Amino acid sequence: MRVINFNAGPAGLPLPALERARDELLDFQGSGMSVMEHSHRGKEYESVHNEAISLLTELLGIPDTHQVLFLTGGASQQFAQVPMNFLPPGASADYLMTGVWSEKAYEEAKLVGQARIAATTVLPDKRYVRVPRQDELQLDPKAAYVHVTSNNTIYGTQWHRWPDVGNVPLVADMSSDFMWKPMDVSRFAFIYAGAQKNLGPSGVLIAVARKDFIARGRKDIPKIFRYSTHAENNSLYNTPPTLAIYLCRNVLAWAKQVGGVARLEQWNREKGELLYGALDKHAGFYHAPVERESRSYMNVVFKLPTPELDDTFVAEAKKAGMVGLKGYRTMGGIRASIYNAVTVDNVRTLVSFMEEFVRKNG
Ligand SMILES: *Cc1c(COP(=O)(O)O)cnc(C)c1O
Repeated sequence: MRVINFNAGPAGLPLPALERARDELLDFQGSGMSVMEHSHRGKEYESVHNEAISLLTELLGIPDTHQVLFLTGGASQQFAQVPMNFLPPGASADYLMTGVWSEKAYEEAKLVGQARIAATTVLPDKRYVRVPRQDELQLDPKAAYVHVTSNNTIYGTQWHRWPDVGNVPLVADMSSDFMWKPMDVSRFAFIYAGAQKNLGPSGVLIAVARKDFIARGRKDIPKIFRYSTHAENNSLYNTPPTLAIYLCRNVLAWAKQVGGVARLEQWNREKGELLYGALDKHAGFYHAPVERESRSYMNVVFKLPTPELDDTFVAEAKKAGMVGLKGYRTMGGIRASIYNAVTVDNVRTLVSFMEEFVRKNG
């Protein structure tokens, strides 16, 4: 029996995408072998690769100015690769600090060139409970780019209005909320997202890049690290993670089949409202630290009155078929990650469990 998976990443995948993979595993489209046994230069794999790109392009309405890339190394590698490509000597990049991942991105940028903190909402105890307001951004109009983390997987905060950065290229780590709702891709010069949160399995990273921006990237770095290399070769410069891209294809096909990204947003909003509704209703028992305007629709964090009750909550939830609810290792408490693959019914089950838990322990 499958459990309800609230893991933060790698996270649950939509069941139809997994069932399709199971059905196609041993004999991919009558070829007598699995998709992962095919050459990445063969027509069988290439059609999957291109279908994944065209599905994503269609689902997000990606304009011609932009291009989809499949990369490896995860978001963590992009923390270094973004400044390697876009931060030339003498230039400076602005970083908006909203959590652990933006801190890591900033630290890597400092190893490559000059990086500046243009805003931070860090608290004296190092936590973050909101993202900055527009009037708190101290932007350098000459910056090479501004880097933002759209959703803060660990602290459970999310940008609900994109920062206005004028004419400076906007670069976003969207690892944990990519494709959670329709978006205007044209606002961004470079978007990157590890697939294992909201889009597929680990092993592949999706980037959506403005073509002229990556074409201008530095050429005095090894070829393999240049985004332009991957762009010029349709992400087939070297062997891509074919199985991971195939699974992303299955997830994207599922997303299209259920009604596209507008439908995903409708479900995600419903899930968030159900869960935050329960937290607000029992605010004397469940403590949700994130400020209302910054609440994440992907990662919902809260605490019970004592750490012991947190542990009991996690253990009893597991017995009830719900896993992955333990908070991030340094944060404690509870984190329910409710990515696209988590259904509204799954969240209803969690909310009933929470109601029952208050009745028994409140
Ligand atoms: C998980 C995560 C990362 C790190 O991803 P890796 O694939 O492990 O490198 C970076 N940024 C955000 C926002 C994340 O959620």
